[in-house]
Amino acid sequence: MENNDRRKFIKKVGIGAAAIGAGIASSAVPAMAKKEKTYRWKMVTTWPPHFPMLGEGADNLSKWIDEMSGGRLKISVYGGGELVPPLGVFDAVSQGTVEMGHMGHSAAYYWAGKSPATQFFAAVPFGFNAQSLNAWLYSGGGMKLWEDLYAKFNLKPFIAGNTGVQMGGWFNKEINSIEDLKGLKMRIPGLGGKVLAKAGGNAVLVAGGEIYTNLDRGVIDATEWVGPFHDLKMGFYKAAKYYYYPGWHEPGTGLEVMVNLNAWNSLPDDLKAIVTAATYRSNIWMLSEFEAKNNDALKILVNEHKVKLREFPGPVLKELKKLSKEVLEEVASSDPISRKVYNSFLEFQKNIYAWNKLTEEPYQQMKYL
Ligand code: CA
Repeated sequence: MENNDRRKFIKKVGIGAAAIGAGIASSAVPAMAKKEKTYRWKMVTTWPPHFPMLGEGADNLSKWIDEMSGGRLKISVYGGGELVPPLGVFDAVSQGTVEMGHMGHSAAYYWAGKSPATQFFAAVPFGFNAQSLNAWLYSGGGMKLWEDLYAKFNLKPFIAGNTGVQMGGWFNKEINSIEDLKGLKMRIPGLGGKVLAKAGGNAVLVAGGEIYTNLDRGVIDATEWVGPFHDLKMGFYKAAKYYYYPGWHEPGTGLEVMVNLNAWNSLPDDLKAIVTAATYRSNIWMLSEFEAKNNDALKILVNEHKVKLREFPGPVLKELKKLSKEVLEEVASSDPISRKVYNSFLEFQKNIYAWNKLTEEPYQQMKYL
């Protein structure tokens, strides 16, 4: 190499000229070694291994982080029950022992027992759809509130997916008035379940794997799950006649990634940026999958399996909305942070609804002209 070229080369690869004469200077070694350290993490999840869209979201996140980091951050993904129980994710990542996981993939409403405020970051009856949830979290101050809440548990949260508007559920009788919900035994978790209870129904918790059998045997009268793509796979059409919409109780359920704060703080800045970017990609990927695939599954349900589609009558939804407000007010009253989060939620909702009234709403009507 000519001297001139060599100088250029040295400059390009960022090795000080002094280092060349003596091979690699010893002072350069620690910096390089540090940069190339490989981190090996575990991610525990609430989903069965590789469960379509949700478990896949966790798998993708691990793959994308591996690709972007050039293999410097390797994350092994565990299905629910493989390392910790599906609903043990929060505690495991919060405690952050190596055996239990550095990272978790779940939905924040499962942690209402830790703090009722968590529910605002997943699904609120008559609350945000996916677009508005993203706007509140990324650009409306919601993420900061979520970070403050999770920091109390030594966790850092990310939004990492969304189901879009879910379906209202599977029933064996028509719901023509709010009276039809009285005494109804329905599998419906979270805040939606509390609303059903206020309407005189009986909200029951049933693990995913047992819903079909319970519905088929009449142990429960009705169930909600996700949307056509997932509901078709569960076979609910064999045990219930009517498929209701819309999913008033889950209008845009956010999925979360949580990282143990000690593990997070141990990462160099570029890996932190990579993890953050991967959650953004995961968020848009999952919503796109749901939006693209649900209607194909719905066509199979209606055309091949002769499922009867029904829309909840307006007066039923109006009553459920009124009861939802009561439930949310109760959640907000449980502690100061829940009140603070609910206030931010309400303020953002008021603002985004005013904007939607001039934009999304007329557009939705215009589509069908
Ligand atoms: Ca659901």
